[in-house]
Amino acid sequence: MNFRPRLIPVTAVALIGLTACGGSDDTTATDDSSRTVMTSIYPLDFITTSVAADHLDVVSLTPSGVDPHDVELSPQTIGDVQSSDLVIYSADLQTAIDEAVEQQASDHSVDVNGAADLISTGAEHDHDHGDGHEEEHEDEGDSDEVDPHWWLDPARMADVTQMVSDELSEIDPDNAADYESNAAALIAELDTLDGDFEAGLANCEQEDLVTTHAAFGYLAENYGFHQIGVTGISPEAEPSPARLAEVTTIVEDAGVDTIYSEVILGSDIADTIANETGATVLTLDPLEGLTDASAGSDYLEVMRSNLDALAEGQHCS
Ligand SMILES: [Zn+2]
Repeated sequence: MNFRPRLIPVTAVALIGLTACGGSDDTTATDDSSRTVMTSIYPLDFITTSVAADHLDVVSLTPSGVDPHDVELSPQTIGDVQSSDLVIYSADLQTAIDEAVEQQASDHSVDVNGAADLISTGAEHDHDHGDGHEEEHEDEGDSDEVDPHWWLDPARMADVTQMVSDELSEIDPDNAADYESNAAALIAELDTLDGDFEAGLANCEQEDLVTTHAAFGYLAENYGFHQIGVTGISPEAEPSPARLAEVTTIVEDAGVDTIYSEVILGSDIADTIANETGATVLTLDPLEGLTDASAGSDYLEVMRSNLDALAEGQHCS
């Protein structure tokens, strides 16, 4: 693990205290070719694992089944961030990871948000279906907020895949050709996925897409839906009774007969509105993590199950 030519900043050493030099206890470093890349959230883990194949150890910083917006890192994990060869993350999504990167990995980290081309999808609130008066919802976020859920757009996934490939080639030039071809293969699959979404959702009777947290702004924009998230871009603990009543009214007025719940957050919020309105609840997975309950074993499979759910729930032909 000592092939890295970089120096550890003095400030970083001071901050990490006892975990400094974690790499010197070399029981895990079986050979010099074993480099470790840490990823912040499932979609980046999927991309990096796909591109790295068996050339690198890829470690996810978000444990399975945890709400990734609230992830916390142990001192041990923060030490691992420091001693890793590269941290691939998406800034402004997970505070604990932003802090760990800033303090321990500023010289060996890459933020993918540039390649992901984040924008404000502005889709979490809807005032058009109500009684015409505009209301402020200060507790539910600002609709100008940049949407961090870029991975729900296959084209953005492809752009980030290329960036990850370039970064892996930089830390491990010997295997650059493999990274490039693995990335090309994944990008081709993402292109196919995008085409299948486009074709499968081309003619839908229902444009209003009622989701639990507003994770599907890019997807809605891509395929012609209008997202109505019960909670905002971050899944706050509980929506207010007023917000639940508001979404219930929207569901009734717009003739929405299907609303969507999530695997990790559970279906309580969706069930509440479904009970009021008689709507059906289907699962739409924001792919912030993968669990045993996920409808597929990887990003591509779960996205295809999302496509099936949308085609059914939005009445697409
Ligand atoms: Zn989210």
